[in-house]
Amino acid sequence: MKYTSTRDSKLKVESSFAILNGISKEGGLFVPESIPALSKEDFENLKAMPYKERAAFILSKYLTDFSKEDMEYCTNGAYIGSFDDENPAPIAQLGSNINILELWHGPTCAFKDLALQILPFLLTTSSKMQKNDKKTVILVATSGDTGKAALEGFKDVPGTEIIVFYPCDGVSPMQKLQMNSQKGENVHVYAVKGNFDDAQSAVKKIFTDNAIKEALNKNGMQFSSANSINFGRLAPQIVYYISAYVDLLNKGDDLSGGFNVVVPTGNFGNILAAYYAKMMGAPIKKLICASNSNNVLTDFINTGVYNKNRDFYTTVSPSMDILISSNLERMLYHLCDDDKYIASLQNELLNQGKYEINDEMKRKLKDVFYADFCNEEETLKTIKETYEEYGYLCDTHTAVAVGVYNKYKAKTGDKTPVVIASTASPYKFSKSVLSALGAKIEDDEFAAVEELSALTNTTVPKPIAELYSAKVRFSEIYEKQDLYSAVKSALKI
Ligand SMILES: *Cc1c(COP(=O)(O)O)cnc(C)c1O
Repeated sequence: MKYTSTRDSKLKVESSFAILNGISKEGGLFVPESIPALSKEDFENLKAMPYKERAAFILSKYLTDFSKEDMEYCTNGAYIGSFDDENPAPIAQLGSNINILELWHGPTCAFKDLALQILPFLLTTSSKMQKNDKKTVILVATSGDTGKAALEGFKDVPGTEIIVFYPCDGVSPMQKLQMNSQKGENVHVYAVKGNFDDAQSAVKKIFTDNAIKEALNKNGMQFSSANSINFGRLAPQIVYYISAYVDLLNKGDDLSGGFNVVVPTGNFGNILAAYYAKMMGAPIKKLICASNSNNVLTDFINTGVYNKNRDFYTTVSPSMDILISSNLERMLYHLCDDDKYIASLQNELLNQGKYEINDEMKRKLKDVFYADFCNEEETLKTIKETYEEYGYLCDTHTAVAVGVYNKYKAKTGDKTPVVIASTASPYKFSKSVLSALGAKIEDDEFAAVEELSALTNTTVPKPIAELYSAKVRFSEIYEKQDLYSAVKSALKI
């Protein structure tokens, strides 16, 4: 399997090159030349495997330059011992044909763990395969969840250092404590004065600063990135959709008529993984794209016009507050296979903030996807109603997906079984969930966690309970123009 770029299809590289480099040099994203198909027999075999073996089997179809031993090293490293359930992606059932795929049993209680637990192994293995003897330095600017998940993934991974910058004023007290108390010998966490944009642009500057690159090079190091445009983050997400299908078959569900998948979407990574699962042979009918009030994707799928020139809303589902969904570029490439066309669309997005796809693309997109959104009121109402009807507590992001599914069913009457991706533990967003339930809202984060546990008689996840007594290890605050010295001090160069 070779990888090409969405903006230059003449390019052909190995998966290890794509993972090590993250992004293609002309700015395109790496995509597999074709999507591998699973046979009936493959699906039969998958039924008997635990999650980590399913992961190794499915990832081997994409990362064909990895040896069997390399792949097992990666999947065992990621999926043994880091999740609170033997199955890292278990399913909860609501009523007869609603299945909630719980993707938050990892160390940070959000779905990004499924990919960020394995990415460090994929990256260091890729580095070896590419005969790169430099230490990999991961730089992350985070608005909250990605930073913690990346820290947990990269902590104490040989051959790596990870440096996370978060905006002083831009993360919740819980998120701040999660990062500042991070354990590990190779982790470095700094607050940056300002908001997320300040932190992000300062980090981008470091990535391209020749003086610091030279300093790293002299010390046998190089920068890399752990954000979601890396194919090494996307591929592991395909696994849990296939695994969910196989688990439902094992349970005896009748999926002969296929099933729908609903994904609460921000950067379009998670739902794109579901598309790959469909193309590999999982009998997925509709992919339902659920957005919050930042509904740029709802409009795009329904009209074919992508327009980011609109108001930005800060919502109760912050991880979906995004106006530029970077992974959409991959989806569009797969629908047209035309690198020039994709490059021209991305250029329009850069220059005018909008583009419109042609009629054929609009038709293809609508064949596969259905899109709708939930506003704030609908999201909170869905948490309350789902809890009252099924006794099931969902977080604000998952609630967007459940709410959109309810609207879809009311509108279309489609009774096809459904898998709804649940992307975070409700305890990560205790205050919003409490307010949705109409309960007393505590000012203090931990008091809110306790209140939610008492009210719903559910257990606080261990990673959140452990934070109560967590020791702060990192407390340095930098001005955004001084991140260079933060990096130097972290790396002792
Ligand atoms: C990142 C995130 C999302 C959005 O996922 P994308 O892959 O960016 O579409 C949804 N929910 C939660 C909790 C997240 O952390």
